[in-house]
Amino acid sequence: MDISFFLLDRSAWHVKKAGMATASLSIDLDAIAANWRALDRASASGVQTAAVVKADAYGLGITRVARALARAGARRFFVAVAEEGAALRQALGPGPQICILSGHMAGDTDMIHDLDLTPMLNSLDQVTRHLESLPGLPFGVQLDTGMNRLGMEEPEWEAIAPFVLEAGPELIMSHLACADEPDHALNDLQLANFHAMTDGTGVPRSLAATGGILLGPKYHFDLTRPGVGLYGGRPYEGAARVVTLSLPVIQTRLVQAGEAVGYSCTWVAEQDTTVATISGGYADGLLRTLSNRAVVWDGDIPCPVLGRVSMDLITVDVSHLDRVPHTLDILGPYQTPDDLADVAGTIGYEILTSLGNRYTRRYSEGAA
Ligand SMILES: *Cc1c(COP(=O)(O)O)cnc(C)c1O
Repeated sequence: MDISFFLLDRSAWHVKKAGMATASLSIDLDAIAANWRALDRASASGVQTAAVVKADAYGLGITRVARALARAGARRFFVAVAEEGAALRQALGPGPQICILSGHMAGDTDMIHDLDLTPMLNSLDQVTRHLESLPGLPFGVQLDTGMNRLGMEEPEWEAIAPFVLEAGPELIMSHLACADEPDHALNDLQLANFHAMTDGTGVPRSLAATGGILLGPKYHFDLTRPGVGLYGGRPYEGAARVVTLSLPVIQTRLVQAGEAVGYSCTWVAEQDTTVATISGGYADGLLRTLSNRAVVWDGDIPCPVLGRVSMDLITVDVSHLDRVPHTLDILGPYQTPDDLADVAGTIGYEILTSLGNRYTRRYSEGAA
């Protein structure tokens, strides 16, 4: 057999070889596009809706996700660091604006210049670096209105605002710390600070991510920056479902009453139990805190996780199923990333961005 075919085209290998132990992560690009459009409709028609695709589009794959968002109408994208911006420019080609939330770091200058990236400048240091090394090239400004994470605070901004505004920023932005809690007092305080620091500048402004969009129009300004809502996560409860993660069943065994399953014997059978061993573990982002707590799904039937989640494997009770399925879903119609996060003691963002690179990512798009 000539194996060079497989070496040359690994995607063909994956598609043609069904029944491998590689788990399959299905990503519905139409749902992502629908979520972007719905969040776009949630603000007034004069408000631009960007898309946040940092961390490989929240673990789902920046190339395919960003192209789908661009086709849906997104014209401005945000990533965390310049290297992500470079990958994104490669995916999108010239045209869409790519904003870098970490700003202009030493060493980023060539990338920013060559790939037409727009840094959101966070400090006097970054302002100086940008205006000296790339005068006349686009930039934005990030202000800190109360989160104490990124951006210039009021005194620093007051001191240099006239000089920075003279250089013509494209955008002034800030970020809300508690937007997922509508009643939190910091929301109004950050809004007031943002007004105080930016009213009258005449520069387009942005304050809201997904949570801020849901807080209502006074948080929208000229541009919104949804991330997690695009991928079907809280706090956007109305989101279309985006991900399905199916883990292949490798083998099953009968565990007799009194026997233990998995590392450290944390689960002991009280009665004879049929246990399926499925492919996927904490190295794939299926957190070890799911041990003995999570369920996976055969269609609409829940199957409890037994014992410890290992690096590559999870053991599951399938005694109540009338046949052994080929796969069991850990994310799907009955268990969202937020549901799994609740069990693991974290948030949907962390479940998504932890999704491993061993999965075969399958994208569905354009049913029409
Ligand atoms: C991550 C991030 C976003 C997107 O936030 P979501 O809660 O995922 O919508 C927007 N703006 C900034 C500055 C961010 O860091």
